[in-house]
Amino acid sequence: MTIHSLRGFRDILPPDSGVFYAIESAAREVFKLYGYREIRIPTLEARELFVKSTGDTTDIVQKEMYAFTDQGGREIAARPEGTPGVVRAYIENNLSQNGGNGKYFYMGGMFRAERPQAGRYREFEQIGAECIGAHGAFADAESISMLMEMLKKAGLSGCMAEINSLGCATCRAAYRAGLLGFLKTNPAALCEVCRTRMEKNPLRALDCKLDGPRLALEAPAIKLCPSCQLHFSRVQELLSALNAPFKVNKSLVRGLDYYTRTIFEVKTGASGGSQDALAGGGRYDELVKSMGGPDAPAVGWAMGVDRVALLLKGLIPESDAAQVFVVCAGSGSPAVVPIEKSGEEPYWEGRLGKIQQDGGNTPEASSRAFALLGELRAAGIRTDFSDFNLSLKSQLRSADKSGAYLALILGDEEIKNSVYALKFLKEKKDQRNVPAAEIIPAIKAALPVK
Ligand code: AMP
Repeated sequence: MTIHSLRGFRDILPPDSGVFYAIESAAREVFKLYGYREIRIPTLEARELFVKSTGDTTDIVQKEMYAFTDQGGREIAARPEGTPGVVRAYIENNLSQNGGNGKYFYMGGMFRAERPQAGRYREFEQIGAECIGAHGAFADAESISMLMEMLKKAGLSGCMAEINSLGCATCRAAYRAGLLGFLKTNPAALCEVCRTRMEKNPLRALDCKLDGPRLALEAPAIKLCPSCQLHFSRVQELLSALNAPFKVNKSLVRGLDYYTRTIFEVKTGASGGSQDALAGGGRYDELVKSMGGPDAPAVGWAMGVDRVALLLKGLIPESDAAQVFVVCAGSGSPAVVPIEKSGEEPYWEGRLGKIQQDGGNTPEASSRAFALLGELRAAGIRTDFSDFNLSLKSQLRSADKSGAYLALILGDEEIKNSVYALKFLKEKKDQRNVPAAEIIPAIKAALPVK
């Protein structure tokens, strides 16, 4: 009996893992430009952290959290999102004392027991950014535009940020009352969970996976107090100044409790389904204080790497496949098949094939080929090989499968004449001889610019 991965948990294999890597690399570059530094937070936290910050009426905490009691009787949860852990770390390590805004980013797996489907998994990766200690609309606009910049850098064009404001505690009190009144006019239109939590948190109904989108369109919109209105207008002005593509979506709500003022989601025009949100975030001015920290207003977001990767699949060049595959034209091993007698079309024709038919090369050729691997890698060229004892045909098959751009072929004859054969494995499929002394510059010139 074989053991399978859990439902909603999956292996990310090459070449898909290369797409994840490319997104992470783009993110790291952009974070560096914006002064964000990495914070690595634990995967497991006290369950209470999420109950108090994400919110005990949210779907995430009520239905989706992987929570358990550990051997010491402690209530533990696998993080369903990153912000609570970053805020805990900020408070626990007195990071506010570093002065200025605390700008942190994180990357890693999040866990939610949702119903798995395309683009929705039970373990998924988020890249997140938090700017803690910043009051002004500049922080909101910088955070959103950085996210857009990152998606562009990763290779996704045409993304759009949808923004809205949930106001402050004052705006929210009036809004809650109005919303509750609206929900009570037709309780039959609500799912059972929303009916039971409506008194405690009417906003949740707008974020319900079942009825949320419909209710959000019908419900009364929030009326912002002058100060929140000013903040929201300023965010829009600043986003326009940065040419960040955005639009106001008055029915946008977000599923977590701690948001105040600006909230946003980034979508792509491409998919159009319910899984089209690539990232989401907003301001959380009260969270740090409510968790026992200083009065530190903040803004942040999380991007779903799996979803971005789904869209980028096949669109970006593989950055982790070998560039050059070294092949040894016969090594004297009994595994060598004389290719002209194999009954198939000769895979490789010409002088090298003849060498092989002649009975293979001495170990000198394979030793030279093996040393060459090290020389190419030292020159920064991603280099691979299969097994120099295998037939030329088999090695070239591996070269093709590897996704390498070039095969570098050598045998005794090449060593004697100090030339290597460089074979293009992609479009052109042609081949030329290069003097051994010039091989590294020749390879670099032949490789496509990334
Ligand atoms: P959230 O933390 O719910 O605001 O989600 C932020 C982003 O994470 C979303 O826009 C998605 O791209 C991604 N995301 C959230 N939940 C999942 C999931 N179950 N599977 C894959 N990606 C997810």
